[in-house]
Amino acid sequence: AQRQGLGSVCLFASAMRQEMDQRRQLEADLRAAIGSDQLELFYQPFIDVTRGRVSGFEALMRWRHPVRGMVPPGTFIPLAEEVGLIDELGVWALREACRQATGWPGDLTLSVNLSPVQFRSASLIDDIRTALKMAGLAPQRLQLEVTESLFLDNDEGTLATLRALRALGLTISMDDFGTGYSSLGYLSRFPFDKIKIDQSFVRAMDKAENAAIVRAVIGLSSAMNMSVIAEGVETPEQFERLCQEGCREMQGYLFSRPRPAADLARLILRINSA
Ligand code: C2E
Ligand code: CA
Ligand code: CA
Ligand code: CA
Repeated sequence: AQRQGLGSVCLFASAMRQEMDQRRQLEADLRAAIGSDQLELFYQPFIDVTRGRVSGFEALMRWRHPVRGMVPPGTFIPLAEEVGLIDELGVWALREACRQATGWPGDLTLSVNLSPVQFRSASLIDDIRTALKMAGLAPQRLQLEVTESLFLDNDEGTLATLRALRALGLTISMDDFGTGYSSLGYLSRFPFDKIKIDQSFVRAMDKAENAAIVRAVIGLSSAMNMSVIAEGVETPEQFERLCQEGCREMQGYLFSRPRPAADLARLILRINSA
């Protein structure tokens, strides 16, 4: 029995070592990928459902690893945050997205995800100002998506940064709303422009009684002068229910999956003329 125990400890240790080696390799690969053509931004449309038109796009990072194929952002973004690569990655995404958005119709907004780690970077405001200036994009067209984890430590710094960002002229969205550490208190303390209702609530609406949660969020946002968008809309039934609850902006596979920049003109045409 003892020998067996020892054997499984060794197996465990070697599995751990293997995993660490793999992570170190992935980290080195990611470092090399920044600035290469392995990284690309895909875009998923926001739909103004009252007019049936595209109102903007969210930039979503993609990594085509030469050996592993597509590595999902759910894997490499947390890695980048841990090993200190997220600032570099984030600056690249901001500049690339702003540059590409200048080619879109002028009434479309660009939404870029911001990691909480990036949010604490001393150069954040400068990075954003520079990206806008380099591209020649009006700040009013840029939206930044932040998550509730920002408000965990609830400090004055977070508030000051949010204010400084808005002073640049851009807008702030609360991403994945309702999934975090939801104290509703921060909604009144912090200046947001938009709430993104998380996909889990949209999926929950498949049961009619769960529509109450979405109804409450929509009511709350309008009382606080924030706009609202539902993400992860996949079915006509979800679309119908959201419309009934007064939701005017949506995003999800029902309308389009995230697509490469080169596809956007055709995508806009298809949705706007449907
Ligand atoms: P997120 O910001 O919540 O983005 C929404 C995710 O849901 C995206 O996954 C999108 O492709 C997916 N999605 C959109 N519509 C539907 C739908 O109808 N059904 C389902 N099942 N999924 C849908 P993706 O692209 O894999 O990104 C995952 C996460 O990675 C993002 O979640 C975001 O947190 C992070 N991420 C992606 N790009 C960036 C980036 O440039 N910077 C930062 N900091 N994070 C990013
Ligand atoms: Ca997002
Ligand atoms: Ca989200
Ligand atoms: Ca998310």
